[in-house]
Formats: sequence, C-alpha cells, structure tokens
Amino acid sequence: MENLSYKTKALHAGHDTNQTQGTRVVPIYQTTSYVFHDTNHAANLFSLQEPGYLYTRLNNPTCDILEKRLASVCGGVAAITFASGTAAIATTLLTLLQTNNHIVASSSLYGGTYNLLNVTLPRLGINTSFVDPSQTSNFEEAIAADTKVIYIESLGNPKLDIPDIEAIAKVASKHKIPLIVDNTVASPALLKPIEFGADIVIHSLTKYIGGHGNSLGGAVIDAGTFDWGNGTFSEFIEPSKGYHGLKYVEVLGEHAFVAKLRLEGLRDFGAALSPFNAFQIIQGFETLDVRIRQQSKNALELAEWLESQEEVAWVNYPGLKTGKYFELSKKYLPNGQSGLVTFGLKGGFEAAKKVTDATKIFSLLANIGDTKSLIIHPASTTHQQLSEEQQKSSGVTQDLIRLSIGLESIEDLKNDLRQALNSL
Ligand SMILES: *Cc1c(COP(=O)(O)O)cnc(C)c1O
Repeated sequence: MENLSYKTKALHAGHDTNQTQGTRVVPIYQTTSYVFHDTNHAANLFSLQEPGYLYTRLNNPTCDILEKRLASVCGGVAAITFASGTAAIATTLLTLLQTNNHIVASSSLYGGTYNLLNVTLPRLGINTSFVDPSQTSNFEEAIAADTKVIYIESLGNPKLDIPDIEAIAKVASKHKIPLIVDNTVASPALLKPIEFGADIVIHSLTKYIGGHGNSLGGAVIDAGTFDWGNGTFSEFIEPSKGYHGLKYVEVLGEHAFVAKLRLEGLRDFGAALSPFNAFQIIQGFETLDVRIRQQSKNALELAEWLESQEEVAWVNYPGLKTGKYFELSKKYLPNGQSGLVTFGLKGGFEAAKKVTDATKIFSLLANIGDTKSLIIHPASTTHQQLSEEQQKSSGVTQDLIRLSIGLESIEDLKNDLRQALNSL
C-alpha cells in the first residue's frame, strides 16, 4: 500500500479480504463485544500484551478498517474514529490539556469549535487566545509558557480563508507544541496538511468524506511527527494513573497519542463511532476524490456567475482570481478549492434571509459536503448566538449566505439562484 496513490488507498487500504471471509465490501461488525478465548486471553488484551478487540466503545473491526484507511490516505502513522467531528475535537483537546493550559487558535473557526474553546473549555481552566490567522506572526506572539497546542482550520468554515499552514507549523515546531489542523472543508482529496507540517489532523467525517448527509462521524490522524516524549506533555512519559501505570511513549512509541485517545479518551468520554456509520462513511470515502473535484468545479463556476449578478455585493471562493486567498489556494489547494461558496447581497440581512427562503433545489439546513446542494444564512442560524464582533472575526457578516455546492447540473443551480434573487 505504501507506494500507491491516495486514490487507490481510499478504496483498498486497511481491508485484508482474507480477514473478512473474502467479502469485497467491508462488513458491518454490528457487535458491542467480543468473546475471549479464556480469562488469560482477556487479561492479555486488557494489559495490551496481545492485540485484539475488547469492546466497541474502544475498538471495532469495521471502524478499525476505516481508521487504517484514513491514516493511509492522510499520510499519518495512526488514526482513530469518533462519533462526530466535534467528539474528535473535544476528546483530542481534553486528552492533551489540563487546567491552566492554554491554546492559541485561529479566530476563523467552525461555530461549534469556537464555542468549545471560547465558553466550555474556560470552565475547566483551559483558555484560548484567538488570533487573526492571515498573519503567521500573530500565532507566535500569542504563545505563552503554558501554551500546549496551536489549532487552525485549513479552509475556515465559513470564512473560507487559508492560513499558511507550512509557516504556522514551523512556529509550532520551534515552540515544541503540536499543530492541530481541522481539514474538514478541504478533505484529504484536495489537501493533506501532514505534507505541510501538521502534527495532528482532524476531520468531521460527516461532511465530504462521508459525503451523502447520512451519518455523523469524526477522526483524528497522528502524523507521527510530534515527539510526545519531548516533555511538553508529561502524561505521555510518566506512568499513567489512567491506565495502570502505562508509560505511553516508552511502550507505544509513535502510536502513543492515538493510544491515549483510545484507552483513556474513548473509555472515559465514550464518543465512539457506530460500526453502521463507519460502513456508510467507508462507502462515501471510496468516491470522495471524484465527488469533491466535481463539486469544486461547480463551485468555481457558480462563484464566477454570482459575481456578475447585480443584486450581489460580493462573492468569496478561494479559487476566484479576485479573492484574497487566490495565491495561497494555488499552493495549498491546486486541484480544487472545495464546494463552499459565500456571498453577500446589497440588500443585507433581510435580503439574505429572503433569497435563502426562496431557493427550491438548495436545501436550507446546517450541514456541508453533501452530494445535494445546501444553503444557509449563518447570521440568523448557526452564528446567531455570537456577538456582532465575534461574528465578524469568524467571517460571518449579516448579509452572508453560505452555499455548499453538490452534484446537480450547474445550469439548474444557477436558474434556482436566479429565480430566488428575483424575489427581492
Ligand atoms: C461540521 C464541522 C465540524 C464538526 O463536525 P460534526 O461531525 O458535525 O460534529 C468541525 N469542523 C468543521 C470545519 C466542520 O465543518
């Protein structure tokens, strides 16, 4: 597998058909638990003397194949799946951070992640400095003695900004802290942040990887580049109180982080992916590359068309030559800039609501990355609870409409938006 293209890996990695009765499709192992041969076998599994399955909250053969496939496609040493992208993010941060630890994060984040960092984690004494990601020096300036991670999105949702991942990775490495990159909007078909120095990559599998709007899921991929024994995280070196004295780095080497996420993160917080959802996500993953390339093409064409409509005040798509991130998109997203397009209307908040309500093919809902085209007005929905200033730093203006472009005919999508604009 090692030397094959990621496109081939997305179809084959992790699945040894000899291990699954020859089934060509990855089977759904719909079980909570696994019969042990005897008490000694069980004891060996629990003490990690022998590999094997214990309980589906910790591991499951269907999820295991998806995890190996994700690690292989994304270029990491190991991966672990969760019940949702949010569960992947929360479990990662709660595994790495303790009270009085600090995060430096991009201010342009998914709304749910912003709330976790801005409201929920501070209740536990974990605070975040949010910085404008368009200037790499902002990250370095915000790093303090107790900073443990830098957190960014490779393509901000919904701002659609592109941080200079490679430069930010150098800052993280210099300060001996890991760079965590949420790569949900780009997906591994368009961008592999590990190639640019990311230490940990997170995906919501719910979006482009699953791709059909039918299953929640999330994943964490460890690049294997961060030295978990460098002293930044003493819990990886010292005997773990959480897992009968296990010394993660000494025993598990480059698998230390994913092992801790599994043995303590999944055991204690419990947000495991269901094997049925893993199955659905595996089906989606097989066609990710062709889907997202076509969606990117449709999105660029639609963005260019929107620019010429007189009711439209501005259009944002990273592939537009007129855009602020065009140069960075050539470096980080040369094969397509994903399916999200945002635009504003001259008529502001009310006009944006009206057009959103008037579309017929676009579904008004809070998701992205579906094969079907989606629309939302964030200021009145996903981002309504943020102050106007917070909305602004996360890229949400009052007039902004976010589109997630699907696989319908581009002419039908243009006609639908045109008739919606006519309602103004
Ligand atoms: C949707 C999304 C998430 C959260 O994923 P869920 O699977 O919905 O929990 C995180 N980050 C980004 C960028 C997202 O778009």
